[in-house]
Amino acid sequence: MSKYVYGIDLGTTYSCIAYQDETGRPVVVQNSEGTNTTPSVVQISESGNEVIVGQVAKDNAVLSAGNTIQMIKTKMGREKVVYYGKDLEKEIPPAEVSAYILKKIAQDAGVLLDDNVKDVVITCPAYFGDAERKATAQAGEIAGLHVIAILDEPTAAAIYYGCTRECENKTVLVYDLGGGTFDVTVMKIDGGDIQVVCTDGNHDLGGKDWDDCLYRYVSKQFVEQTGYTEEFDDETKQDLALKVERAKIQLSKKEKTIISMNVDNIRAGIEVTREKFEELTSSLLELTKDLTLDVLDMAQNYGVTEISELLLVGGSTKMPQVRKMIESELSMEPKVLEPDEAVAKGAAIFAIVKMEEIVKANKQEQSGEQMMDELAFEKAAKELDDEDIYTYMYASDGQLYATDFDNSKNEGYLLPTESQGPAQVGNVTIHTKTTKSFGVKALKNDKIVISNIIYKNEDTPCTKTKLFGLAEDDQETANIEVYESTNLADAFEVDQDYFIGNAILELPKGLKQGSVVEVTMNLSNEGTLSVTGKELTTNQEVMATFASECIMEETDVEDTRKRVDNIVII
Ligand code: ADP
Ligand code: MG
Repeated sequence: MSKYVYGIDLGTTYSCIAYQDETGRPVVVQNSEGTNTTPSVVQISESGNEVIVGQVAKDNAVLSAGNTIQMIKTKMGREKVVYYGKDLEKEIPPAEVSAYILKKIAQDAGVLLDDNVKDVVITCPAYFGDAERKATAQAGEIAGLHVIAILDEPTAAAIYYGCTRECENKTVLVYDLGGGTFDVTVMKIDGGDIQVVCTDGNHDLGGKDWDDCLYRYVSKQFVEQTGYTEEFDDETKQDLALKVERAKIQLSKKEKTIISMNVDNIRAGIEVTREKFEELTSSLLELTKDLTLDVLDMAQNYGVTEISELLLVGGSTKMPQVRKMIESELSMEPKVLEPDEAVAKGAAIFAIVKMEEIVKANKQEQSGEQMMDELAFEKAAKELDDEDIYTYMYASDGQLYATDFDNSKNEGYLLPTESQGPAQVGNVTIHTKTTKSFGVKALKNDKIVISNIIYKNEDTPCTKTKLFGLAEDDQETANIEVYESTNLADAFEVDQDYFIGNAILELPKGLKQGSVVEVTMNLSNEGTLSVTGKELTTNQEVMATFASECIMEETDVEDTRKRVDNIVII
């Protein structure tokens, strides 16, 4: 039995877990090191029986480079395995690496709250396609969690910022500058109705690039001041990498800081002012400005001419230069509210809403009290003075309700104290648009092409069907090869990079060339794609299921979960 449901921001460089407390406030749960966010860095021991996740792994990332895996999020659903170990001789699926991160933060939260962390909402970038989302959900399963939903990060942030509480129509721009990636998303929000209008980003731009700039500057200064000529050894590199990130964070609050270095007993203190730091990194900031303007342009094509709110998300938006740039260059007053926790907190609020939906669905099937007993929702129950009365904290109509479910003693609803800070959402309906086009390989006018079935920017969930003919007489199978791209054309040249998997349709005997096969694609709200093929000439229905190349088989997921269950995670 668990007490709470949780929101997890599984980040490229830092991850975070939150839940909604009894007063309705989303709260971040610290890890066992006592920090609110945990570096998404994983170190696997030689035997594989022990895994270190977080700051300790990050502190040794350079020295134990072979056994350290970083930025795994960029590989989720895109690569079957990643390599690590002494000579990169070992392989591991990205979902398993992410599972270690999830396990570590869930385990730490469980200890701190004395809870069994089970039901979670995990977030992912808005541009994540089907395979990436599936891999994320599988990471949750491998970690032994029950994934209630996969939620877009900007949507989670908007929920946390309270954008879904007021009823009026508004458009929101989310500027998310994290450690390794930069994302800009424009959303339309009407009460609880959330719709992603468009999104773009640079997946190789983030805080790490600011760190690298500072690293180069400080090492150059050290050489100038001391006349040191050797190349830095790994230990020095490791030490300096950690120090520059710390210095960067200090410069968000202080005007200047000093980085002290000791290389082969040659010492120097390098002073860095915020002004110097901003000068060194101005071209990086410029890149984020240009992309933001591009997305604003793109949004105009979808009828968005004005942005009512600009939300800052991601740890790197704590750098004062970001806010300054937005105020001066974009003439907007950004909102900043714990930018590196906003996504996890929004997910925590959403987890409650989602759980409430499950409660409602189950209510129709089962009788009230019995159902309540069985659900994780009960975990939010809090005893009042009368033993038999429990309060259930959940967001509904933008309000928190205290419900007592012992009907014989029900004397009305108990309203909780006003919650502080942004919290509840109403009945959230999230409308998403497809961020990718999906098509199949087909022969058209004697040319092999990708024929799109679902187009980028269609509303999801969506189901689309296209008819195809069989290429030959007596074909035994039809190979439905699925491609994911951003191409908007009906048909375009095959690029193997876009291939995401295939589904093989077994055919009845004796079909003629041109016999019709109906291919149906369904994209769920969560971005999960399913593909169905149906042979029409004989009116015989043959179903084909879609399998993506880079995601694990369900049986592998289950086996991995069992194996991972025995691994010690520190
Ligand atoms: P992710 O990229 O995984 O989504 P975050 O949003 O937490 O992660 O962003 C992490 C980045 O934010 C790191 O590069 C970190 O150094 C940076 N960061 C965190 N706090 C600050 C701060 N106070 N000032 C500047 N940068 C910060
Ligand atoms: Mg993030």
